[in-house]
Amino acid sequence: MRRTKLQTVAWWISRSNIRAYGFAVLATLFSYLVRTGLDAVLNARPTFSLFAFGVLATAVFAGVRPAVLAMVLSAAVMNVFFFEPLGHISHDPRDLVELVLFVTIAGGMIALTQLASASAEQAQTAIDRQRELSDQLQSEEATQRAILATIPDAMVVIDAKGIVQSFSSAAEKLFGHTAQEVIGRNVSMLMPQPFRDEHDGYIGRFLRTGEARIIGRGRTVTALKKDGTTFPMDLAVGEAHVAGRRTFVGFIRDLTAKLESERHLQRLQSELLHASRLTAMGEMSAALAHELNQPLTAISNYAKAARRTLAGGAAKIEDARGMMDKAAAQALRAGQIIKRLRDFVEHRDMTRTIEDPVKVVEEAMALALVDAGQAGVRIRSELTAAPEVYIDKIQIQQVLVNLMRNALEAMQAVEDRTIYVKVAAEDTHAEIAICDTGPGLAPEVAARLFQPFVTTKKTGMGVGLSICHSIAESHGGRIWVTVNEGPGVTFHVSLPPAGTEA
Ligand code: ADP
Repeated sequence: MRRTKLQTVAWWISRSNIRAYGFAVLATLFSYLVRTGLDAVLNARPTFSLFAFGVLATAVFAGVRPAVLAMVLSAAVMNVFFFEPLGHISHDPRDLVELVLFVTIAGGMIALTQLASASAEQAQTAIDRQRELSDQLQSEEATQRAILATIPDAMVVIDAKGIVQSFSSAAEKLFGHTAQEVIGRNVSMLMPQPFRDEHDGYIGRFLRTGEARIIGRGRTVTALKKDGTTFPMDLAVGEAHVAGRRTFVGFIRDLTAKLESERHLQRLQSELLHASRLTAMGEMSAALAHELNQPLTAISNYAKAARRTLAGGAAKIEDARGMMDKAAAQALRAGQIIKRLRDFVEHRDMTRTIEDPVKVVEEAMALALVDAGQAGVRIRSELTAAPEVYIDKIQIQQVLVNLMRNALEAMQAVEDRTIYVKVAAEDTHAEIAICDTGPGLAPEVAARLFQPFVTTKKTGMGVGLSICHSIAESHGGRIWVTVNEGPGVTFHVSLPPAGTEA
């Protein structure tokens, strides 16, 4: 947009311009007066420095254009008032050279002040930007603090070395540690052994191989509180890259209450199962007795009749053979009844899925060993990769929970209580071992351990191991026990790899 003449005039005489150009005129006038005042001393020699000082002051305080005006005015004043003939414009080449020198020096000074003010401006911009960034950082930190204080789940952020970077308020409540106690230390302090010693290895392996065991999946694991107790938790870990550094964010949910109610439910279920098994067994024996009674009575009658017939001599042999055939047919029928019964028992409903044995065992551990810490039992585990299995997860976990609870109960009487859980690949199978440091097997149960109603406990039902046995077998697997070299026993469960089970 072009300015009108009026606007241009207005601009020129705007107040700040009047002040700036006024300063230029006054500075030149001041230089002139001082120069005139010093005339006697300076012996009629013009002193550029005085005028240069005026130009410099104008450049610093009023800007470039007023300084250029001051320079031109100074040159004119010097030419007219201080060069011979006084009061006229000098045409002496020496004077002209001096003027050119003055203009060059004064122009250089104006340029220098401009440069200085530009770099001062730049420095100020940099300072402002710095301040802006630090304000931004402060507000981001405040936001982060607010998130950490209000997020309902416990949240722990660690770096690639496992060092805790932040610890939310919910995490403080859950673990009993304050954020200051945890930040800067290795996150493994929140884990019981053996996970504590193994954790750096887990991160190292992930960073090396990129193979995620927990990141982006979520898992049930055991955590350690400040007071030394352990609790089961659901852990979900996410990976983030912050300023080129790898960071892991863990969300933790306490599963104690959930598992407690699950355990209660499982106990109820297993009691119900026991009761219904007993009833079913009673009913089944009655039905079996009734069904078998008929063929057995018939067999006995045919046998008696055959014997009587044979007493009649060789002529009756043919008749007796007919009766024996009928007895044999009845025996076959009895056999079929029993087969039908077995088919019925074996084909009960199962919901099978393909599972990672390590995960199945970890969940069972969290479920069965939740109060092991309080009972003074050390938990050690070595869960190495094993082939996937095609199982009814609930049933297999029922087996594992049963074995672990038996081990805990057995160790109540001993001083050194350690339960050692192992998963490994053995001959294409997945083998799970649960080893205790208890008193070992009582001689009266050792031989019939997996038979029903074998127990040494006052309130025991003695059906746990027999159910474990039939569950293992129905999965095409095996369960057995070995005596440890040290104290205690080890129960082994072996499961065939998925795709090959019976
Ligand atoms: P219950 O636990 O009801 O007695 P089980 O079938 O689970 O039924 O166990 C049968 C018996 O086997 C127990 O009474 C106990 O004597 C013995 N037993 C099981 N596990 C162990 C073990 N880890 N150490 C020593 N004895 C055991």
